[in-house]
This record gives sequence, structure tokens and C-alpha cells, in this order.
Amino acid sequence: MYATPVNPQACAQAGAQTDPIALRAPGFAALGSGFYAAQAPTPLPAPYWVASSAQVAQLLGLDAATWRDDTALQMLSGNRAPAAMPALATVYSGHQFGVWAGQLGDGRALLLGESAQGLEVQLKGAGRTPYSRMGDGRAVLRSSIREFLCSEAMHGLGIPTTRALCLTGSPAPVHRETLETAAVLTRVAPSFVRFGHFEHFYAQGLQQDRYESLHALADHVIARYYPQCHAPTHTPAQTYAALLRAVSERTATLLAQWQAVGFCHGVMNTDNMSILGLTLDYGPFQFLDRFDPGHVCNHSDTAGRYAFHRQPAIAHWNLGCLAQALLPLLADEGQAVAALQSFQPAFTREFLRRMADKLGLGVAHGGLQDGSALAALVGQLLQLLAAQRVDYPIFWRRLSHAVASGDFAPVSALFAERSGWERWLLSYKELLTKVDQAQAADLMLKTNPKFVLRNHLAEQVIRAAQQGDFTPLQTLQTLLENPFAEYPGHEAWADFPPDWAASITVSCSS
Ligand code: AMP
Ligand code: MG
Repeated sequence: MYATPVNPQACAQAGAQTDPIALRAPGFAALGSGFYAAQAPTPLPAPYWVASSAQVAQLLGLDAATWRDDTALQMLSGNRAPAAMPALATVYSGHQFGVWAGQLGDGRALLLGESAQGLEVQLKGAGRTPYSRMGDGRAVLRSSIREFLCSEAMHGLGIPTTRALCLTGSPAPVHRETLETAAVLTRVAPSFVRFGHFEHFYAQGLQQDRYESLHALADHVIARYYPQCHAPTHTPAQTYAALLRAVSERTATLLAQWQAVGFCHGVMNTDNMSILGLTLDYGPFQFLDRFDPGHVCNHSDTAGRYAFHRQPAIAHWNLGCLAQALLPLLADEGQAVAALQSFQPAFTREFLRRMADKLGLGVAHGGLQDGSALAALVGQLLQLLAAQRVDYPIFWRRLSHAVASGDFAPVSALFAERSGWERWLLSYKELLTKVDQAQAADLMLKTNPKFVLRNHLAEQVIRAAQQGDFTPLQTLQTLLENPFAEYPGHEAWADFPPDWAASITVSCSS
């Protein structure tokens, strides 16, 4: 561990001159040595570029034509320590699968610094840290491609997420279930602070009966990311309660978006929950193919704790852990309970808003004003989709085209047993008469993606990349960056999953 905190000013000057990506010490570094360990990346042999995001490069102010040079390749593979400041592995704790796991921390992530735009840049897979425990500090090409693509796919869908600047690979062998090769992902976010950071300093405070670090962390997060929680009339406890309420609302909004789009995270441990309400730590995630509310995408989750339909309740449970960690800063438990009560209404509001858009009945288009009628319509539809295991993305895309053309036959063809569906369709068509149908279709085609990062698509581009062919990966990235566009000639990327997709297993091993 570092004896003294990193000095942000001194570091900023050193870094701007020499690093291919100009970074300064992140605000997090000023919290002090108890929050992280300085750790240089461990070099990897023969690094090569796998993928990069022009959008994220632009966010960081990088020159599109030139930034991917050899110096950047070395820096972003962990072979050239940034001059800005020592890289940092942060310490956190957390609940894993509902059980207190104690100290965890960045076991394979290193914070390189913060850009002029206030974005933190982190390497994932750049070697061991003091928090690696039994792990090797590495990430494999397979899972890194999944995280790279999903970060950018989520952004394309308009869902809050950490971003990915680029992915580099190396022939260095990495042992998982089989022998694989190493990769380093460069992640970007305003902050990588997790619920688990708060839990860590709460647990530490309990032992020492002093909560200075917890206070400092909460003050940092409020000052940098939730300044609106401060109000002139607030007591300190009210400010921290406002933080909890704001995190609760953001998390609820995020979960509503996951549920509407059919995204299953797979490992919703509290250390994988972003304090900013971002989708964070892509592992065994999956976008639903056939609609199955009880779907468990993580092969390691034998009890089904993180099944698709349980995600909102789990997020609420995780917020309970955050609330517990914040108790020393609050007036009493009642304040925590009140703050968490914001979750359910925020979730329902956002979920119904998203579903109304998916149905083309968004309020902005003069659609359904009556929330309970909408909730009933959505509930009946989801039951029908679940009963017949209808393909979720294809259903919505076909419905969007049906509203545009007036021909619902391709949607009906998705149902083997039609009577329930036809009854539902009658009531839906009735509602459609109350809105401008051209506008409804337009809204639906901008809400229901044509291209979704299904497991089998990820698997196909991974197999090609493992053979050194990155063209399919680039194609899929392009489609996912703008998943609502038609991209004629790319129908195969929007089709039903092949039979072999059912045999793909994704687990915590990454
Ligand atoms: P995850 O399940 O990926 O969220 O990881 C849980 C914890 O294990 C975190 O503290 C990670 O940093 C750590 N971890 C996961 N994989 C590795 C690895 N290969 N090497 C070191 N630490 C790891
Ligand atoms: Mg994690």
C-alpha cells in the first residue's frame, strides 16, 4: 500500500507531456492510501489490437486517425506504465450470492487515471494486484470480447453503462477451464465506485468504531457525482440520505431498462453494483432469446439467485446492503428505509414508460395515459410470450414493422397457440387507433432493436477472433453501435439463434 496519497497536481503535469492518453490522478486518489494500493501493470508479450471504439476515443478527446499507435498499444496492454501517476487497485468488499464475502477489491483492474473530461480510465486484466487473492490478475480474450461488445451495445441501446475504449490481446497463455489467451480491456467511466466500496469502509469502521473513511468516500461521491444531494437546509444526515435515495432511483431506472430490453446480468453481487447506476462488470450476461422469466444465464448460479425475473428484487436487496453501510452517516434506520422506498415506484414508472414506447403507445405520442390499463396490457403480453417461449427481440421488431405496415401475420406466426395472442392483439389494435400510427411505428423502430448481442453472435465473433480474424467482431460492433438501423444485407445477424446456441454455457470463469 502507498504510505501517502498520490498528489494529483504533480501527477497531472508529468502525465500530460508523455502519455499517449493524457491522464491526471483521479479524484479517487485524493481519498488517501487506505482506499487503494499503487500497482504497476504486469507486462504481456507481443500485444496486438483486437478492437476499439471510435465513439469512446472521441469522448476522451483522442485523435481518431492517430491515437492507435504503438505507444498507446504498449500502454493499454500494461507494458508501459503511465507517467501520470502510479496505477491504482482500489479496495472494496461485498456480498456475493447473498453472503458476506469480506474484502475483495480490484483483483485484475487498475485505474490508470482520469482524463481532462473527468472520465476514469481503467485496465482490466493487466496483472495481479494485492487484491487478486487466488486469481491470476488476467482476463481472457473470450470474455473480454464479450465485455467490450456489451459495453458498446448497451450504450447503443441507450442504457447506462461503463464504456470500452479498446481491447488488446496477447499470445500469453491463461488457464481457465481450457487454455486460453490473455487480453486487456480499457474501460472508461466517470467512476468505478461500487456499493462494495461503501460496504468495505463500513465493515472497517465497525471494527475500529470510527467511520472517517466511510464519510470521506460518501463526501467524494456526493461532491463529484451527486452535488444535487446537497441543499442549504439539509443536515449532514439528510444529505447522505439524499444520496441513498438518488442511488436507489438510478438503480431502479437501470433495472427497468434491463428488464424491458431482456438483459440478464448474471452476477449481481454488491461488488458489481455501480454507485452511478451504470451496468458494470460484464461476465456471464445474456440477452434473452426466447422469453423465459426464470432464465438463469450464469452456469455457476445453480440456485438461480440471479434469474432474469429476480433482478429488480436483487437490486433492491443490494441497495439494502448499501443502506446498511451508510447507517453510521444517517440519523436512524427510518431514514434509510424511507430512502429505499423510492425504488419500487421509480422502477414501475420507468418500466412502464419503456414498455409503452416498445408498444408505440408512449405518452409523448398521445398514447396511453392510464397506467393501470398499460400495466395490464404489458402483463398479459409477457405471460403470452413466456407461455410460448417466443423469441423476445424478434417479437418486438416484428411488432414494430407490423404497426408500420398493418400486416400482423409475421408476428402471429411466432405463436403456435393463437387464441390468447389474437385476443391480446385485438385490444392492442384498439389502443393503436387512439394514436398516430406512423409516429407509433417510428417510436417502436427506435425502441426495439434489430441487432442484439445474443450469446451465439458473441460466440461466433470470438471463435473468429481466436483464429486471428477480427472482421466479424468489427461488423458486429458496427451493428450494435446503432442497433435500430436496418443495415440491409445483415439479416443473419438479426435472426433466430441456431440450435447449437442452447449448448453455450457462460459462467463466472472469465
Ligand atoms: P467478479 O466475479 O468478476 O465480479 O470478481 C469478483 C472478485 O474476484 C473481484 O474482486 C475481482 O477483482 C476478482 N477476480 C476475478 N477474476 C480474477 C482474476 N482472474 N484474477 C484476480 N482477481 C480476480
Ligand atoms: Mg466484479
